[in-house]
Amino acid sequence: MENPMEMFDVIVIGAGIMGSCTAYQTSKRNQKTLLLEQFDFLHHRGSSHGESRTIRATYPEEYYPKMALKSETLWREAEEQIGYKVYFKTSQFDMGPSDNRALQAVISSCQKNSIPVRVLDPISVFQEFDGLIQLPEDWVGVVTEHGGVIKPTKAVSMFQTLAVKNGAFLKDNMEVVEIIKKKDDELSGGGVLVSVKSGEKFWGKKCVVTVGPWMKKLVKTVTSGVVLPIQPLETTVIYWKIKQGFESKFTIGNGFPTFASYGEPYIYGTPSLEFPGLIKIPMHGGRPCEPADRTWAPTLTLDPLKQWIQERFGGLVDSTKPVMTQSCMYSVTPDEDYVIDFLGGEFGEDVVIAGGFSGHGFKMGPIVGKVLADLVIEGEAKDVELMHFRIERFEKNLKGNLKNFDDQVSSAH
Ligand SMILES: Cc1cc2nc3c(=O)[nH]c(=O)nc-3n(C[C@H](O)[C@H](O)[C@H](O)COP(=O)(O)OP(=O)(O)OC[C@H]3O[C@@H](n4cnc5c(N)ncnc54)[C@H](O)[C@@H]3O)c2cc1C
Repeated sequence: MENPMEMFDVIVIGAGIMGSCTAYQTSKRNQKTLLLEQFDFLHHRGSSHGESRTIRATYPEEYYPKMALKSETLWREAEEQIGYKVYFKTSQFDMGPSDNRALQAVISSCQKNSIPVRVLDPISVFQEFDGLIQLPEDWVGVVTEHGGVIKPTKAVSMFQTLAVKNGAFLKDNMEVVEIIKKKDDELSGGGVLVSVKSGEKFWGKKCVVTVGPWMKKLVKTVTSGVVLPIQPLETTVIYWKIKQGFESKFTIGNGFPTFASYGEPYIYGTPSLEFPGLIKIPMHGGRPCEPADRTWAPTLTLDPLKQWIQERFGGLVDSTKPVMTQSCMYSVTPDEDYVIDFLGGEFGEDVVIAGGFSGHGFKMGPIVGKVLADLVIEGEAKDVELMHFRIERFEKNLKGNLKNFDDQVSSAH
């Protein structure tokens, strides 16, 4: 007689930061959890690999800061459990023209969320950062204490390790090709049947899909036709050389912040940390592609970035050419807000999806994992209002949530 198939409480598909945090959360709550990954664990073909991601609470949208603060607490809790650090704290510095609507919205969303914020003129910015950052006369700088750098590959590995410690099962080189809703009767037992390319099948009461840039493709396949507006983009991480003698000035130890510059292009960066003497300064956005058809080549023209570096860092960073570039993937929605929802249709509330993190999801991994665990275990999210993340927003308006600023959104499309 054939062995009856083992049943999992939760099957999580995709082991980037979102899937790894979810597997950690569900296993912590005594759910028998299986995490499936199509490639090797900790591979470099998705969005969650590399050496640095910014954590910040400064967002023009009022619904992200509280999520970021909750995530900050969960990052610290996980670090305490594992016994090593993945999160290196510094302040966050946002800058841009004083009439930039997104930057103005950042200031008011901090205030509404009770996040202490200091708005500085160019002279005060120069003094605040030891003469390292120079702003034009009509710009302002915005300082908050909730900034820092997270080490992505190390952080994903941390959550996978914690999930295993909680009893989760992790399997890599398992490309999921089909998810079928099982009939909800005594004979079939309900839930979902997940099949991988090699032919193996896994049975779960619930399923969470966190497949990053592959989301549109997988959802279309398993639903026979639902097309989510989540566009994969190929983007480039760029490192620049700090001029000799100034290397230590741009470090967290010297109080250098994580930073973002509003306007076109939207530029962001982290203090010198992972590669001594180098500083990461990329641009938001990239080239639309399918994950299987990537060029792995730099995606954007660098002239505006070179000029920005020269002007903002007073010649202390060599802006003539980058010293290193790395390829990475974004999954972008039209409004750059996340998609966190039940898949619906024939799957009802048995399958939950989370994607479209639009280049700003990493910091939120721990809180997103908690929300996804809530959705599959309790049927509702406790810590986060999901209104802005529902799929149905695109049925009402193809562009999704309405915003009265457009910097970040326009640069990615
Ligand atoms: C260059 C760059 C800079 C960024 N900077 C920041 C930042 O400073 N701050 C911040 O908060 N965020 C940042 N982000 C965004 C953040 O990294 C992403 O939002 C986050 O990593 C998304 O994680 P994910 O788990 O959704 O996707 P992924 O990491 O892509 O994980 C999805 C996983 O699913 C697997 N998968 C796909 N299909 C299948 C299948 N059929 N079967 C099994 N497995 C499958 C994939 O192989 C992959 O491992 C940045 C992103 C990039 C690329």
